[in-house]
Amino acid sequence: MSNKQGQYVYSFTEGDGKARQLLGGKGANLCEMTQIGLNVPPGYTITTEACLKYLENNNTYPDGLMEEVKEQMTALEKVTGKGFGDAHNPLLVSVRSGSAMSMPGMMDTILNLGMNSETLQGEIEQTGDERFAYDAYRRFIQLFGKVALNVDDEHFDEPFEALKKREGVKEDVGLSADNLKEISEVFLDVVHAQTGQAFPEDPYIQLDLAIKAVLGSWSGKRAVDYRREFNITPEMANGTAVNICTMVFGNRGDDCATGVAFTRNPGNGENIFYGEYLVNAQGEDVVAGIRTPKPIAQMAEEMPDLYRQLEELRSKLETHYSEIQDFEFTIEKGILYCLQTRNGKMNTQAMVRTSVELVQEGLINEEQALLRIAPESLEQMLFPRLDPNANATALATGLPASPGAACGHVVFDADRAVAQKAANDRPLILLREETKPEDIHGFFVSEAILTSRGGKTSHAAVVARGMGKPCVAGAAGIEVDVLARRAHIGDVVIKEGDLITLDGTTGSVYLGAVDTVEAEFSDELKTLLSWADKRARLKVMANADVPEDAERALKYGAMGIGLCRTERMFNAAERLPIVLEMIVSDTLEQRQAALDRLLPIQRQDFVELFTTMSPRPVTVRLLDPPIHEFLPSENQLIDDLVQLKHLRDSMRGSEVLSATLSLLSTENGVLAPIQQLADSSLVDEAIEKKEAILKKVRSLFEVNPMLGHRGVRLGITFPEIYAMQIRAVLEAACECQKKGVEVHPEIMIPQVCTSEELITIKVIVETIRKEVEQAQGIAPIFKFGTMMEVVRACMRAEQLAQEVEFFSFGTNDLTQAAFSFSREDAENKFLPMYNEAGILQDNPFEVLDTKGVGKLMELAVGWGRGVRKDMKIGICGEHGGHPASINFCHKIGLTYVSCSGPRVPIARLAAAHAVLLESSS
Ligand code: PEP
Ligand code: MG
Repeated sequence: MSNKQGQYVYSFTEGDGKARQLLGGKGANLCEMTQIGLNVPPGYTITTEACLKYLENNNTYPDGLMEEVKEQMTALEKVTGKGFGDAHNPLLVSVRSGSAMSMPGMMDTILNLGMNSETLQGEIEQTGDERFAYDAYRRFIQLFGKVALNVDDEHFDEPFEALKKREGVKEDVGLSADNLKEISEVFLDVVHAQTGQAFPEDPYIQLDLAIKAVLGSWSGKRAVDYRREFNITPEMANGTAVNICTMVFGNRGDDCATGVAFTRNPGNGENIFYGEYLVNAQGEDVVAGIRTPKPIAQMAEEMPDLYRQLEELRSKLETHYSEIQDFEFTIEKGILYCLQTRNGKMNTQAMVRTSVELVQEGLINEEQALLRIAPESLEQMLFPRLDPNANATALATGLPASPGAACGHVVFDADRAVAQKAANDRPLILLREETKPEDIHGFFVSEAILTSRGGKTSHAAVVARGMGKPCVAGAAGIEVDVLARRAHIGDVVIKEGDLITLDGTTGSVYLGAVDTVEAEFSDELKTLLSWADKRARLKVMANADVPEDAERALKYGAMGIGLCRTERMFNAAERLPIVLEMIVSDTLEQRQAALDRLLPIQRQDFVELFTTMSPRPVTVRLLDPPIHEFLPSENQLIDDLVQLKHLRDSMRGSEVLSATLSLLSTENGVLAPIQQLADSSLVDEAIEKKEAILKKVRSLFEVNPMLGHRGVRLGITFPEIYAMQIRAVLEAACECQKKGVEVHPEIMIPQVCTSEELITIKVIVETIRKEVEQAQGIAPIFKFGTMMEVVRACMRAEQLAQEVEFFSFGTNDLTQAAFSFSREDAENKFLPMYNEAGILQDNPFEVLDTKGVGKLMELAVGWGRGVRKDMKIGICGEHGGHPASINFCHKIGLTYVSCSGPRVPIARLAAAHAVLLESSS
């Protein structure tokens, strides 16, 4: 159908079923269903264009609209054999809104329009059912009064409830014809009293007011708020259509019914007919839950012939739309009508299952199956989530830093978490102001992490994501008092051991236990993702630091490790003391001694990681974070020292006590424990150690540690640290190669800004390579590459490409650098306000800023590939798991994306979408 100039109304037999923008989703489907021969009550649609003109012209119809409506009414009278306003055989219609996007309940609907004191008699005449006619009448007055005449609900509800009370009935069905007649009259009086005018008797006046009410509801507060909340832009839906449809009644006797159905089970996607119906009822009764509907299967016994017709309708709808349908039907006097259909909204599990099954049934192809599913929605299947039926109210909110839901007992420090887990194996949630590498053992024993500071790329967030544990970060409303083992959220106090639940997918925190639903990486999802891999050009790698993370990533289909942050390997409780020794050592010899102890440990890590991932590539990033991150905070150390010094004083007291007692008594039994307690040399030693660390912490202090002594700067100033790591990688590679395990390690240098840095490190690599090759008798296979996370590195990509075999964009740091926004603080300081004010559309730490950061990447890709044509280039910042950002990475020709393990399936689907959307555009 071409939208004929000046035509504002289309009958269902004429309108184009594809013209959703013009006719709204409901209108287009009513036209489509009519034209494929389904039994839809006759009707017509007023276009969204008419709506826009009406609103633009100060609530005035565009020229000719009412004439077209009248023509359509005449046509309806003809096909139905009834008359609009006819006192003997009246035509009644419904007037419903419907825009291009479904906005459930946001706009208005009126039923039974055309009823008045005369047509009421006509209805009684036609049906012989006074009760039915009065019921339809009172419903009409009530709905019309509310929607078209703006009378508040309560003015109708109060007398209606009073009547039911008087009659001693709970449900509307308990009211007699006389009761309904009485209430109809009361309702007419209500309208008169509230509007100052009599209820309109003329059906055309009713129709006019109803159309105006529906058109106006597009700019009503409810609808405007809804569109803002769900980002419905005018390109997606502009204006509402008005659908005017002949009324059919499911409440005219026992050969009547009404119901809603899904062509498949929307809860799990199973191919069974799913729905509910009520005999002798109106649609409203099903929706409002006034009576309990029966499962659709029961209709097979109660109305076998109609059930067969309904099954036929189900199958026709699904075959025609090649999509699961959610439809409404009414049976009037043994005739089945379809009143509405739309694509069924389902949870992700059901979407995935139906995608695979629709392909197997030949209804859609694999590409359509992939495009049906929004990559982000897979999160629902990959992480546990809060039970959607749990009606909990959040106590605090932070950033959704690592998805999934978990419930556990609060613990405020990592050591106590470990001790509690050992003593009493119950779920724990680690609650801290922020976390540091030294807290890592607390992560291992906790179900989830909650912090009151830090952003989505904070330590807590990144580590939790890597481990697949839920995390809410930067919940600024929580005040944590670690020493008192308490947290305050407004007036609520959370003590150690209290149960809380958090949802890392939304950022909400709840007091007590809220039910959760388990994740399910189903066979159907595996099948669907195998179709995605066939189409995707981007490879999907995982950010994984230890073999357990790698194994999990493999389960999710990771094609390699794109980022192993080696500093995370030092986090194990037994390793930290050696790392500490390395950091606090004053001489090269002392440092080397510590590194010599770390070498075999690190080599073994790599052997395990390479073996787990064989034959896939593993990108090992050399040490990156500012070294003080491994050290306790200055405040913590000062606190500890105060305690230790108190202890030392007390011990001195014990020594005096012990000496005094030994003069008074010869009984050793009394003295022994005191003497034991009085050995203060251990405490002196502890004080000495802490003081040395404090001195180091002070000497390492930097005002801007993120821009400080980290990454390759550290590797150049302490070359022995990088040398140890490089040796560990190359020796591990040789060990695997000798065992016949195919390995592809890649050494990656962080924070590089100039090619001279790379050249300096390459010299070390080359020296060690020679030594290892000679000692092992085999040449280690490996690649050498750089992170691209400094603006200058991008600008000098051409020069850097001459020194390395691959680039990997570290978009966390690159975003920080490009915006000059601290990645630790911006997200819970000014960014939300920036988003709200529309200064920035998205959070750039989550959604790749394609215009700025992306531009730098695009330039660097071009310059790098100018030097090395097929250069391997990837991304390993958090954006590597974000669908729209992945689409951009595809467009600029990256080789791979790398993201935390549990996001790998999302990235695989997004990588396929990038190809499919490109070819469809
Ligand atoms: C990055 O900066 O994007 C990155 C992956 O490194 P990190 O987050 O460890 O600084
Ligand atoms: Mg970085």
